[in-house]
Amino acid sequence: MSATQRLQARFEAALMPNYGVPPLALARGEGCRVWDADGKEYTDLIAGIAVSSLGHAHPAIIDAVTRQVRTLAHTSNLFVHEGEVTLAERLLTLLAADGRVFFTNSGTEANEAALKLVRRQQGGSRPVIVAAEGGFHGRTMGSLALTGKESIRAPFGPFGVEVRFVPFGDAGALAAAVGPDCAAVFLEPCQGEAGVVPAPAGYLRAAREVCDAAGALLVVDEIQSGIGRTGAWFAHQVDGVLPDVLTLAKGLGGGLPIGACIGFGPAGAALRKGDHGSTFGGNPVACAAALAVLDTIESSGLLAHAAAMGERLAAGLAAIDHPLLAGARGRGLWLAALLTQPAAGAVEAACREAGFLVNAVQPDAIRLAPPLIPTPPPADSFPAAPPPALDQLAPPLATAPPHHEAGCPPISSATTTCPRPSRRRCWTWPTP
Ligand code: PLP
Repeated sequence: MSATQRLQARFEAALMPNYGVPPLALARGEGCRVWDADGKEYTDLIAGIAVSSLGHAHPAIIDAVTRQVRTLAHTSNLFVHEGEVTLAERLLTLLAADGRVFFTNSGTEANEAALKLVRRQQGGSRPVIVAAEGGFHGRTMGSLALTGKESIRAPFGPFGVEVRFVPFGDAGALAAAVGPDCAAVFLEPCQGEAGVVPAPAGYLRAAREVCDAAGALLVVDEIQSGIGRTGAWFAHQVDGVLPDVLTLAKGLGGGLPIGACIGFGPAGAALRKGDHGSTFGGNPVACAAALAVLDTIESSGLLAHAAAMGERLAAGLAAIDHPLLAGARGRGLWLAALLTQPAAGAVEAACREAGFLVNAVQPDAIRLAPPLIPTPPPADSFPAAPPPALDQLAPPLATAPPHHEAGCPPISSATTTCPRPSRRRCWTWPTP
């Protein structure tokens, strides 16, 4: 039995079965590389689900956290400490807006805070929240109620929040759903768990206008997209739209648990004394890590790097001519490699075997969210890795049904590729 297998057996016996048994036991990391419990090295292209933005064991985080633990590890919310104030000020400066911050320990808690804020500001006459199909906002009861994935929501209802779901990206459907009974609209600028699906251009702006017209608050969930992941500090900034509420987590702490719910304008002052709280939220160690993340992103030019590397990685993936790959979507270092078959689980395993950690986020999409730091550049090494791994998968998949999309001309035995230029990898399958 390997060290990994021993740990997996202990995991299975001691931990709840909600995650299944993870395929790998990680022991340590450095930069973009991690090592498993048996010493095998991997290039980390998922960074703990878009969290470890500075990679692993970054000196800035080590120094900040070590210094803080030595000085004062915890205060609770009974006392103020400088780190939380500085971090709140820094976030508001980056957002270039008047607002107030509430710190949490996770993304789902940031959305729970946003929900309470919305209730407080809008009162009881607007019972409905509008959210998008395919969206993901967390696993606690309020955030789960907003999550547009029936399979994970249904077993846990009923919820105390009345949610109206609309198709993501459809501004007309949004306008039709947001009326005088609607307190707020919760949206991601790009749906991460749905497979890194960006909103169409102009969608957030339309959402802003719809909310303004109906008196609803716009809550933008940047828990996955925020803090440089897309090559901008915050993805919504590219649309030139300011939400009423913004939620953050994941990359903010660079691996330490911290989230934030930020209210702008009146929304920043909606929660009153005693309305909400968290013992650990805004903990000094987590705040120190977050400040180190922001400092390093700024001082090392990681926004521009993420944008440039993301383009290179997407171009590298698009250039792979393989029947299982259909290019990439996403922005910055937050991409999905698209598959022509529902083979993501097998592709993830094959990439792992080849020494790359990726994530089968959807049956036909592989999520890549590598650290934002420059070394080594996975944009160059990774595109070379999938073809051999995918070739191993090709024979069993050759019997799978053709992948054809609505609008593609009928498959003819005389053609090997779809004649539509935009669908050139929409192959007849198996190829004649
Ligand atoms: N919102 C979005 C957009 C997310 O991607 C996630 C996690 O994947 C969450 C909320 C929940 O965050 P957490 O897992 O920290 O509770």
